[in-house]
Amino acid sequence: MAEHDGLPAPATTAAHAGFADTGGAGDVVPPIRPATTFTRGTDYALDGPDEYQRDDTPSARPAEALLARLEGGREALLFASGMAAAAAVVQTLRPGDHIVAQRAMYWGLRAWLEDFCARWQIGLDLVAPEAAALRAAIRPGRTKLVWVETPSNPTWDIVDIAAAAAAAHDHGARLVVDSTVATPVHTQPLALDADVVMHSASKALNGHSDVVAGALVTAEPESDVWRQIRANRKEGGAILGPFEAWLLLRGMRTLFPRVERASDNARRIAAHFAGHTKVAAVLYPGLESHPGHAVATRQMRGGFGSMLSLRMAGGRGAALAVVGRCRIFQRATSLGGVESLIEHRATIEGADSPVPDDLLRLSVGIEDAADLIADLDQAMAAV
Ligand SMILES: *Cc1c(COP(=O)(O)O)cnc(C)c1O
Repeated sequence: MAEHDGLPAPATTAAHAGFADTGGAGDVVPPIRPATTFTRGTDYALDGPDEYQRDDTPSARPAEALLARLEGGREALLFASGMAAAAAVVQTLRPGDHIVAQRAMYWGLRAWLEDFCARWQIGLDLVAPEAAALRAAIRPGRTKLVWVETPSNPTWDIVDIAAAAAAAHDHGARLVVDSTVATPVHTQPLALDADVVMHSASKALNGHSDVVAGALVTAEPESDVWRQIRANRKEGGAILGPFEAWLLLRGMRTLFPRVERASDNARRIAAHFAGHTKVAAVLYPGLESHPGHAVATRQMRGGFGSMLSLRMAGGRGAALAVVGRCRIFQRATSLGGVESLIEHRATIEGADSPVPDDLLRLSVGIEDAADLIADLDQAMAAV
């Protein structure tokens, strides 16, 4: 709970959707406005602030304003997906520029970066999550972006955001943080000097596995880069539709209780399986054994997130057998929903995956923790 300085705590702001009725009708939630186009008067001036839905979705503004507040930023933009949000950032670069990114990250984004950068003659170095490795890979004058994800898929490595920002800024580069897993409940990258925060809003921000969306947030909406990002969304047609934006806002109203509960469940599961005979390693930044624990303790508030991975002592066969026996954890990819999911990550990522084939990735939901532990226990008992 926040100490009382007179301002509502973020959980309060989120619960109210940051919305105050401005239409005078007393609505406690914002309306959905599906119009694609907006009228002009007889003098041909626009009747309202909007011209065309692809430029700026009116129904997305309440969710954008709420996310900007929760991240401590000044402007947020919603996109049609997390990938569309990431692409809008990367497409601000030009041939000859250079990106330093973390090797351990959401595989779909890493694969797209490798392909896009190769085709557009943008240099790309994929490195370890330590700030020293990020710093060493920066090519002064060429590196425009440092891209990190923390905690990062699927080993939940922790990047020291403040140190990564210092490394980027010392050489005139910008730091983008994919904060999908941390959510603003646990980490506010802008307060640690990141330039842009990225979210796959398809995950915990929405929280109900029923919307695909992405978001970017900045503290510097006047910067050239942000102006270009805004143009990329508008001209590239990457906006979020009004119904998805409305659903996303509804999901975000319960962000705090969902994420707090899911993180607490994940912490209990991690503690239960640390040292378990069938489990070779539990990867969770909340455990002291995790290499990122010290930085995570400094950088994350109120928990370490709802994602963890288990490396099975019995290898690939045991991992697949456990997945097959789960009754409460559902066998599906993705993360951040209220329902717990389990996946054999190497199978999902395919033949080129660097993920060890004994690894199970768990997205922990808001179910009863004892039920989740019992489900994994019974699944492991037979392997
Ligand atoms: C899912 C995900 C993405 C991609 O987002 P989409 O909404 O699926 O396009 C990017 N980063 C992370 C960490 C993710 O989990």
